Amino acid sequence: MSDLTVTNWFGDLVSHPQVIVDANSVDDIVKIFKNPGQYPSPVRAVGSNHSTAPCGVADGGTLIRMKMNRILNIGADTLTVEAGAIHIDMAQELEKHNLQFYVNTEIGRLSAGSAACAGTKDGSFPGEYGQVGSYVTGVKMVLPSGDLLTVTDEQPELMQKVRSSYGTFGIIYEVTYKIRPLLPMHVHHKTYKLAEFVSALPELKALNYSMMYYIFPFDDLITVEFRKYNPGAKGDPNRTAWALRNYIWGTSGPKFGHDIEQTVSVPSIRYGIIDSFNAAWRFKLENIVSSDYTIPGDQIIRYPEVSDDSRYTFSLFAFDERQYSQTITEFFQFCRDYYNQHGYRCNLLDVGYRIAQDQKALLSYSFDGPVMTIDPVSTGNPGWKEFLGAYNQFCSDRNGKPLLNQTFGVTPEMAKKAFGKRLAEFEETRKAYDPGNRLLNNYFRSVLSGYI
Ligand SMILES: Cc1cc2nc3c(=O)[nH]c(=O)nc-3n(C[C@H](O)[C@H](O)[C@H](O)COP(=O)(O)OP(=O)(O)OC[C@H]3O[C@@H](n4cnc5c(N)ncnc54)[C@H](O)[C@@H]3O)c2cc1C
Repeated sequence: MSDLTVTNWFGDLVSHPQVIVDANSVDDIVKIFKNPGQYPSPVRAVGSNHSTAPCGVADGGTLIRMKMNRILNIGADTLTVEAGAIHIDMAQELEKHNLQFYVNTEIGRLSAGSAACAGTKDGSFPGEYGQVGSYVTGVKMVLPSGDLLTVTDEQPELMQKVRSSYGTFGIIYEVTYKIRPLLPMHVHHKTYKLAEFVSALPELKALNYSMMYYIFPFDDLITVEFRKYNPGAKGDPNRTAWALRNYIWGTSGPKFGHDIEQTVSVPSIRYGIIDSFNAAWRFKLENIVSSDYTIPGDQIIRYPEVSDDSRYTFSLFAFDERQYSQTITEFFQFCRDYYNQHGYRCNLLDVGYRIAQDQKALLSYSFDGPVMTIDPVSTGNPGWKEFLGAYNQFCSDRNGKPLLNQTFGVTPEMAKKAFGKRLAEFEETRKAYDPGNRLLNNYFRSVLSGYI
């Protein structure tokens, strides 16, 4: 095994590449494919390596760290960047021009290369998508042959496949997004008992807000975040509402969970303290993260480049929204049963998103219709991975759809059940671009094993 060790941002997925290349130019990538003796397979590119699944692992191969991160062009409704540019930098630059992304998901270190070919999620606004890549209109790639390829929305079928190619067709070096004028955004939160949430769901959907939600299975509560654009907003924007949310969600909450995990050994006391912290969190969401006029880009969090004690990790599955009332009710029971049987529960709150039907990417988890997700979140406390094994089965049994970069532990059977024919179509295209499997790591070999 190689002495080189690279981990994902959270630190639980380890890669041992033979060679690491910092790509500062297209030529740096081309030379990898022109010299296979010097740069062994699998060749995998990473942006910020934030993924919680081993999609970027390059054991025994060549790991490309995308350093190219310049903003190349900002037009009235398009943005073109190098693939290593990260979302928070791009959003802040757009704001200077009174522009914004369509999807302002909170992960500031999401690189453009990853956004263009891997899964993301955020609550959809009415009539809009909730996946960042659905607003990517073009990419430039280096293919395994060393040739360059440009794909745009002029070739919608190929673009659809590229959006979920996970770097298995080629290495993306340039990305173009569709963007829009900056709009004021309203946000507020409301907490429901599970039973109230379930019965109110049809009305909540009819309100026409985007919805994400914080899930508290041990308190029987769900706090819904409602957002909508509010073009008529007056006065100055509120710039503290999202700053507070970001601080609790991205720093103080996970740090608190981590510290309590280290210092309080009695589970009933530990989780009592965590549940009290969560009650204070709900209070802040309801009373402070509330405003008629916020700036969409303020939702984006600049996570530290190297993770520290405030790191957290998560997983997710998406469900047909028509079954969500039943599935979320069963999930609350599942969490309690699991805790009673195994003594394990997540030490942070869980979250979920309502995301519109979206066929812009072949392996989209909302390809067949609107979905609502269940995303357990944790500091990775002992028992987390075993819990995920049971959670994955719970979700797959209920026809949940995973994200290949964000759901840990997807088995070939689960992938096949979730994506079926689409996975076969994906593999056919992948093979056409990469007949020598230069870009195929063990993870994708496993996920695609029914089709290779
Ligand atoms: C704390 C935390 C919070 C998060 N919050 C969110 C959230 O709110 N919403 C959300 O959607 N996700 C969230 N995520 C997940 C994360 O956004 C995704 O996993 C995303 O892929 C990370 O971007 P990245 O640049 O780090 O991708 P990486 O992990 O570096 O790569 C992801 C995949 O894309 C491929 N890839 C990357 N760059 C290229 C390239 N240039 N060419 C070809 N292939 C490439 C990689 O090989 C890999 O398969 C979060 C993750 C963490 C750890």
